[in-house]
Amino acid sequence: MPNAIVWFRHDLRLDDHPALRAALDEGFTPVPVYIHAPEEEGEWAPGAASQAWLHPSLAALDDDLRRRGSRLLVRQGRSAETLQALIDASGATAVFWNRKYEPATQPRDAAIKQALRDQGLRVESFNGSLLIEPWDIATQQGQPYKVFTPFWRTALTKWRVPSPWDAPSRLPAVDASLGGEALETLSLQPRLGWDAGFWNAWTPGEAGAREALEIFVDGALNGYRIGRDRPDRAGTSRLSPHLHFGEVAPWRITAELERVRTAANSADMDGYIRELGWREFAYHLLHHFPQTTTQNLNPRFEHFDWAKVDPVDLAAWQRGRTGVPIIDAGLRELWATGYVHNRVRMIVASYLTKHLRYHWSHGARWFWDTLVDADLANNTLGWQWVAGTGADAAPYFRVFNPVTQAEKFDPKGIYIARWVPELANVPVPLRFAPWQKPDVLAKLAPDYPRHPIVDLATGRDGALAAYRKTGD
Ligand code: FAD
Repeated sequence: MPNAIVWFRHDLRLDDHPALRAALDEGFTPVPVYIHAPEEEGEWAPGAASQAWLHPSLAALDDDLRRRGSRLLVRQGRSAETLQALIDASGATAVFWNRKYEPATQPRDAAIKQALRDQGLRVESFNGSLLIEPWDIATQQGQPYKVFTPFWRTALTKWRVPSPWDAPSRLPAVDASLGGEALETLSLQPRLGWDAGFWNAWTPGEAGAREALEIFVDGALNGYRIGRDRPDRAGTSRLSPHLHFGEVAPWRITAELERVRTAANSADMDGYIRELGWREFAYHLLHHFPQTTTQNLNPRFEHFDWAKVDPVDLAAWQRGRTGVPIIDAGLRELWATGYVHNRVRMIVASYLTKHLRYHWSHGARWFWDTLVDADLANNTLGWQWVAGTGADAAPYFRVFNPVTQAEKFDPKGIYIARWVPELANVPVPLRFAPWQKPDVLAKLAPDYPRHPIVDLATGRDGALAAYRKTGD
């Protein structure tokens, strides 16, 4: 059988893999390859936590291929040259891959596709990660959507996703002469082992993704609409890193949900699919407004009076030493596990962009380096949404109060005590704003900051004053 290169990127799975399926359907021997070329991602090369995830995810993919008689070739170097070398060595007559949508990788992939086709190779790309691709829908005026609700209403009527596809249990062997670098040569794993705490919470790879999906469907899906806002409970699917690395296809998730849909869980299910819709919206925006990874989507903020960054305060925010418990809990959860609950992401982002009045890019960069689910589309949308600078964003003047947010969504202070253990002995009502009783705080939690780095009322007033100066 002739060889076809299957270029794996953010689709580190075998089931529901359109490029692999096409190679097999057309009678090729798939030659699976992963090319490590972080410099081609421009200023958004994978952060440290993403790299820590990538290593075990690639190892799992290789194991899954080997169990079927194939294997993953690992290469590093520029993608175009590396693919060319592999084509020359394998005699491949076709190259297949699933599309990526980041501003740096789209033009690269288009150039590679053209150059290989010019040589007479068969080259095809597929949708491996979205329910609806960014160019599939537009407003009635033919413009990209900037508001979620109409985007989603249209998307729901236009989805055409494939049925789930299980990869065959046997795959043709890859020619031994093609060699392959050891995964370790990519040096993805942290040398200091700071990721040790991640792996109690996560199992990278396709099997880990499926297990997370099963756990969710059997558990938190029922009650998701309320549970999803509670950081003190396991109320969400925790599928985001698996989705980011393509360890599960979104249409496998929706199919699995539909399989268990009942009258009782239907509203929770629609609520969950709507959250997947925000991911779709994020990719729509990233494709149509690629500049928004660093620039405000809303031009009103071009001359906004962002505060000059104080490195001490920024470090206090990053390390969870702001003196505001829910914020410190969130940022410590992030540091320890590579993940933060969505509600808490919004609260910590609001404090950074409004109380501290730092440009959202400082937070986006920190998340980029520390999240295992760091995703250019979702992270950009999330930060611009909270900062009020983006599409369909929370208005800038709506400033989250981290105390009332904590009282509402972590009412017993369980989440705070879990991640800020020095506050575990502070009585619950005081856990949300411990600076209000300095003597109790000094006695029960002597190591915790006495005051927030920015007083809540002062920070809020400063944010609103700066916003008013932008005019309307
Ligand atoms: P669930 O509630 O189970 O949701 C299911 C899936 O829907 C998620 O896995 C995710 O793919 C998608 N989703 C849910 N909420 C959103 C949302 N608001 N925007 C886009 N997609 C969503 N998500 C990332 O995947 N990567 C990021 O880098 C990222 N950065 C963010 C930064 C900020 C400031 C904010 C406010 C949100 C960010 N999010 C990001 C969105 C959201 O917080 C995470 O997707 C969610 O917390 C992941 O947990 P889960 O899988 O348990 O979510």
